[in-house]
Amino acid sequence: MAITVYSRTFKKELDMVQLLNHYSSDNALNFSDFKEFVAFDAECPICNVSGAIVVSEGYSKRTNKIVSQSHFSFRTKDGTDAHKVFCDHYSGDDKQIDSSRDGFIKFGTSGSEITSIIRELVCRGIEHDEFNQEDIRNMRQWFTELRQSGTFSVNYSPHMINLIRASMYSRKGESKYIVDEERKNKSWFDINDEVYRSLRFKYPSLMIDMTNENNSVFYNLVNSTTFTKQAHRLVARDRGYQVYDRRLLKEKYEATIRVAQKITRHHEFLFRKIRGISAVKKNNPLLAVSALLLFVSDWNETTAINKFIKLCGVGKSKNNDEGNVIGLNPFIHYDVWNVIHQLKDLMVTLPDFSNLDEEFDREKSRLIELYKL
Ligand SMILES: [Zn+2]
Repeated sequence: MAITVYSRTFKKELDMVQLLNHYSSDNALNFSDFKEFVAFDAECPICNVSGAIVVSEGYSKRTNKIVSQSHFSFRTKDGTDAHKVFCDHYSGDDKQIDSSRDGFIKFGTSGSEITSIIRELVCRGIEHDEFNQEDIRNMRQWFTELRQSGTFSVNYSPHMINLIRASMYSRKGESKYIVDEERKNKSWFDINDEVYRSLRFKYPSLMIDMTNENNSVFYNLVNSTTFTKQAHRLVARDRGYQVYDRRLLKEKYEATIRVAQKITRHHEFLFRKIRGISAVKKNNPLLAVSALLLFVSDWNETTAINKFIKLCGVGKSKNNDEGNVIGLNPFIHYDVWNVIHQLKDLMVTLPDFSNLDEEFDREKSRLIELYKL
């Protein structure tokens, strides 16, 4: 279900009402009705397919209230889903598990102050020709192509992530896992964690060389449970699918962070709310607009920052509807992916883990019995 489409005629990403307004006030258009126009004009803003069908608001027969928002549907002639398989709007049977759905950002739909500050920046940028809707679309297209170009396959068990984490715990001279029933009464007790603690002794050669600078990314696993969970979830989700190597974006990512930091320093509220580099990295709308500034500057940092500084001085935007939707933050979960890629590279030097899923299940059953869970 697409709430917005890209209009070829108006070169804007628009929702149904906005597109209808534009259509109604343009006398030069020669279509029998709005539906015919939409079928010709509207493109999916993500995968660029055309042939949209207008789906009106749904009303409840009982209360006469709107129960579903008007939207655009993209169907082929035989009625199947017309979106390309990687598209976030695709919902056919063979839906490719998509890891960038959570990269979706709708500026303006969230009432949060941060989002509206960034929305204002987008509107100023459009009003003062620093970028336009077509640039936003081109950025999306660039990211889409990047995603389609993936030749990297995550082919290891997600348990690897946790096992690496467990292998970095201190060993206190133990040579095997010791069942300690007291542990299960502790608030932090987690049977899966115990399984990993135990399995690490089965793989004594699973040692990560932490003197190698590239491996320092694994410290993230020890330092943050959330980080580990995210990495586990992404591997579980994208296992077996072709993905692209996020590390190709390293320079662009680092430049985006620096531009984002610059933006927060220029805004008292943002500076208070988004303190420190890790907060910046987590803020998707901020990264999206920073990436957009860089994208329209051929990724030149100085040019991007100059554009931003210019927008700071131009005064409030006149039309706050110029750009209310932008698709995605290309750098979502970048640091987590960095760990996933680094582990993939290391796998060739590590023991054979092809049976890790079975090993995990077996060990879990054994420990459940021993702990009388
Ligand atoms: Zn699509």
